[in-house]
Amino acid sequence: MGAPYRSDCDYEVIVVGAGPAGAVAARVAAEHGARVLLLEGRPEVGRPIQCTGLLSVRGLEASGASPDVIVREIRGVIAYGPGGERLVLEKPETHAYVIDRDRFDWDLVERAVRAGVEVRLKSPAVELNRSPTLQELYVRSNGHKERIRARVVIGADGPRSVIARAAGLPSPEKTIIGVQATISYKPPREDYVEVWLSHAIAPNFFAWAVPAGPGTARVGLGTDDPKRAKALFDRWIARQFPGCDILGFQSGSIPIGPSSQTVTDGVLLVGDAAGQAKPTSGGGIYTGTSCARIAGEVAARAALSGDASEAALGEYERRWREAFEGELRLGLLAHRIFGRLRDPEIARLLEAAGDPRIVRVLCELGDIDYPGRAVRKIVESPSLLAKLLQAAPRRMEIYLPLLQEHL
Ligand SMILES: Cc1cc2nc3c(=O)[nH]c(=O)nc-3n(C[C@H](O)[C@H](O)[C@H](O)COP(=O)(O)OP(=O)(O)OC[C@H]3O[C@@H](n4cnc5c(N)ncnc54)[C@H](O)[C@@H]3O)c2cc1C
Repeated sequence: MGAPYRSDCDYEVIVVGAGPAGAVAARVAAEHGARVLLLEGRPEVGRPIQCTGLLSVRGLEASGASPDVIVREIRGVIAYGPGGERLVLEKPETHAYVIDRDRFDWDLVERAVRAGVEVRLKSPAVELNRSPTLQELYVRSNGHKERIRARVVIGADGPRSVIARAAGLPSPEKTIIGVQATISYKPPREDYVEVWLSHAIAPNFFAWAVPAGPGTARVGLGTDDPKRAKALFDRWIARQFPGCDILGFQSGSIPIGPSSQTVTDGVLLVGDAAGQAKPTSGGGIYTGTSCARIAGEVAARAALSGDASEAALGEYERRWREAFEGELRLGLLAHRIFGRLRDPEIARLLEAAGDPRIVRVLCELGDIDYPGRAVRKIVESPSLLAKLLQAAPRRMEIYLPLLQEHL
């Protein structure tokens, strides 16, 4: 199948970036018969950690990682409003896990290696020459620039994707900055996460506390205001968790709003490089690894057939958009509507959402991977919708038709 083309390239598929999306894409491409190289710019997989590690039960299964990475089981959420309003939602069973993120990344890379993938650390990709049949990737390695040739390159190189830029592919729509610390904190429930919804705390996003090891939690906030992110975080930590010990600090970017094009001749993008994180939560592991399975399969098939043109790789774009784009676009709209609400309106909405009928819908259909399912049920019920509309009548009237269009 691929034999006539093997002589002029070193690998069928090169995956740039050994995060969760890259490791899964590389493994699946190898399982489909391709010779695969996985390149990581940093000296270690999974470090530094830039993640809270909250992953749905479905997400862990879909990634293929071992359950050994689970730190905690989560089945509920406490949402706090700007004026101390409180909404508690819970599932009868475990809905999500808190995972050890660097072990998780390692586990996925080890699985890729077992499938036959070659891994190189400390090897950042710096340049790319493309064509519909052969890609020349330049990698900095031990102070030298080395050329490696492959049929297809998968850009899984995260928020500041070198591959997206080199291939002339567009960026995701916007970036959220996440600032987080692991602190000493005993949460009210070890199987609940806490979220704070207030623009005064976290403009245009939210703040969180997620139980981690015994007596510790990962607490942080996201915002689309990069200049103020750290100052907002410091102020919030001092007020919300006075006297806590800060055991570790992390920050990172979360691109949201999928890129308008993720495939071109010889290249496809996956994970954060493609803007596949969920705009409502910033969670990118489930969507990124799910899209990566499609990317690995399509890339291997195209590479082995010798046709790496945009037309051949376009199957990836069609399939991942069919699976996730509706939910990601709805999430982006919800993110924008939230950004337009003032804090008193958020407070009233949270109070209105405490109506037992709404709580029932949120508990039954609430899903961190598919938040649109609960939103759809509420918007389709005139009495539940009327209850929420009272909280912010003018704004909801403007945005409701848009929301209905997306559902
Ligand atoms: C504070 C914070 C909290 C988060 N919490 C959660 C959460 O709880 N749950 C969740 O699902 N998501 C969360 N996310 C998002 C999640 O971390 C990302 O969506 C996810 O890591 C994306 O995976 P990826 O493989 O696409 O990219 P990444 O994990 O960013 O991996 C990209 C890899 O590419 C490497 N790389 C970059 N450039 C090059 C290059 N030129 N050459 C070679 N290698 C390169 C990088 O070193 C990195 O290892 C959070 C993000 C932040 C910032």
